[in-house]
Parts: sequence; structure tokens; C-alpha cells
Amino acid sequence: MTPHHHVSGELLTAYAAGTAPEAIALFVASHASLCAACRARLAAEEAVGGALLGAIAPAPLNDLLARTLARLDEPVAPAPAPPPRHAVLPPPVMRLLGGEPTWRRVVPNLEIAELPVRLNGNPAVLTRLAAGSVVPPHTHAGWELQLVLSGGYQADDGRFDRGDAHCADPSVSHGFRVDADAPCVSLLVREARIIPKTLRGRVFCWFTGA
Ligand SMILES: [Zn+2]
Repeated sequence: MTPHHHVSGELLTAYAAGTAPEAIALFVASHASLCAACRARLAAEEAVGGALLGAIAPAPLNDLLARTLARLDEPVAPAPAPPPRHAVLPPPVMRLLGGEPTWRRVVPNLEIAELPVRLNGNPAVLTRLAAGSVVPPHTHAGWELQLVLSGGYQADDGRFDRGDAHCADPSVSHGFRVDADAPCVSLLVREARIIPKTLRGRVFCWFTGA
């Protein structure tokens, strides 16, 4: 299925330039692995970056030659092995994990698996919400980036399925309901904890640490 919700041009540019924080780079790479349109946008960004580098005046030949000769004696690093294939988790996530995630149940309808990258101290996580789960209305104190990896949900700000990037900044308030027929697995990267808008939401946050 072709995703309908994409990462912003700002995030793609930061990723292509190598300036995105590691957790955001993981998010962009994971979305791009599921989205041909964003892979094409990234290739275009990288082509522009390469052209700009090519336009920089070359180093004097003697200097360049000396550095090239010096590197001939350096051992060649082996190419990294490709990550194990997974039916749900994209290659950038599998490259980090190396195998199945370790799920931890935080409430009856929610399991999470922490990933070894953080944004503002908040770990990137995989979330698995049971079919029919409701995430109460909330807003945000920073960016919240959610990539759907299996299943889907209907949110106040749209419909989200596998490959869709659900990006919310502090101006966005929303809640969502997972489809009744399947659990929903997502990659979640965020700058700050969410701000619940209801008593039920506060209880949800208290129990889940969301
Ligand atoms: Zn995309």
C-alpha cells in the first residue's frame, strides 16, 4: 500500500544532509523504506547535496595525493551485514535491534519495546496497541512522530495505515482509535511527553508513561 502521509521536506533535508538527530534519522529512514515517493525525494536531495560538494574548489593535487596514498595502508572495513528481514519491522529498525524486539506490557492493551536511540532523553519505542484501543485526546509539548508498521487507526486528524508518518507538533490536538480487527504496531519518536486533555487521558499517561 502506498502511504498517504509523508515526512516533511524539512526532515528529509536534515536526513539527507546528515544533520538529523539519530532518532529522527531512524524515523525518516524507516518511513522511506516503506515509501517510494520519499525515497525519490531523498535521492533528489542527495543529488543536490552531491552537486554542491562537487562545486567546492578541489584541494591541491599534492595534498589530495598524499592523503590518498596514506589511506592505502589503512585496513578496509568490511561492509556491514544486511539486517535480518522482518515481516513488520523495517530494515533501519532491524539494523538497530538485530532480532526480535523485547516487548514489555505497560497496561493490558499496550506493549512497548525500547530502542537504543533517544530524542531529548526520550527513548524511541515500538508500540503495540491491541485491536480497538483508544488513545485519549492529547496535545504535545514537542514533536511526536509516529510511523504505522502494521494495522491502522482512525485519528481526529486523519486515517493512518502501514507506512503512514503521523507527525504532530505542539499545535496539534488529537486522539485515535485502533481498528477493531487487528493490533497496531508503530515506531514512536517524540521530543516530550504528551499533554492529556481529559481525566481519562491523565490516567492513561500515568499508567503508560506516555
Ligand atoms: Zn513518504
